Amino acid sequence: MKEIIRVIKAVFFPNTCASCGEVTEQGEPLCDFCSEMLVHCDPIKRCIRCGKDKKNCECKYRIFRFDGCIAPFINKQPAKTALYSFKFRRRLSNADYFAEQMALCVKNEYRDIKFDGVTFVPMHRLRLLKRGFNQSQVLAEKISEILSIPLIDTLICLKAGPRQHDLFGKERFKNVKGRYAAKGSASGKTFLLVDDIRTTGATLDECAGQLFSAGAEAVYCVTALITEKKKTKENNAGKKR
Ligand SMILES: [Zn+2]
Ligand SMILES: [Zn+2]
Repeated sequence: MKEIIRVIKAVFFPNTCASCGEVTEQGEPLCDFCSEMLVHCDPIKRCIRCGKDKKNCECKYRIFRFDGCIAPFINKQPAKTALYSFKFRRRLSNADYFAEQMALCVKNEYRDIKFDGVTFVPMHRLRLLKRGFNQSQVLAEKISEILSIPLIDTLICLKAGPRQHDLFGKERFKNVKGRYAAKGSASGKTFLLVDDIRTTGATLDECAGQLFSAGAEAVYCVTALITEKKKTKENNAGKKR
């Protein structure tokens, strides 16, 4: 009977690839092609502090307030599309895949750290109303469950402001200043701070700063994707040409 149900399910509700949408084997989140194309972050080549690859380590010219930043994937295809369809097209099943991969990264790379709580980058209530969910919170909830670390909803977004996505480099750091606050005391706690993408690190830096102001002991970040190249006005203009 179980087998019949499985076959019926496979015929009428086929499992599709999280990135390209091709029909895949039941239980496999990505098709074989997309799986092979994934660009993983190599922990040996990464600076564990800022999250960038060692050649482009940003610790040389900026002291980030967070203690570490890791991610399973580089912000490239097919992981990029898989994350975007979760974020913008509500394909919530993709969140399971990313949360599992992020949790695996935490287990491997933060294995010596004892976390008191998992927290996440909050979304402004108006944006939350529009999207219906905060992708970072969804990921944090799943990671908290996988790793058996309590979820601590401790940050709040005070003002909406321009989207980080539309800004460049230093503007991103200015844009998030004063945007977040800690809701209560974080005294003596070591946090795992979750977000979807780390680009300049401005949002994570500001959130970590607020956690430290509330008494946090340490803040380590994990994101689903890390953007490899810094987004600058010059890069962008080049792209458009
Ligand atoms: Zn695919
Ligand atoms: Zn670094």
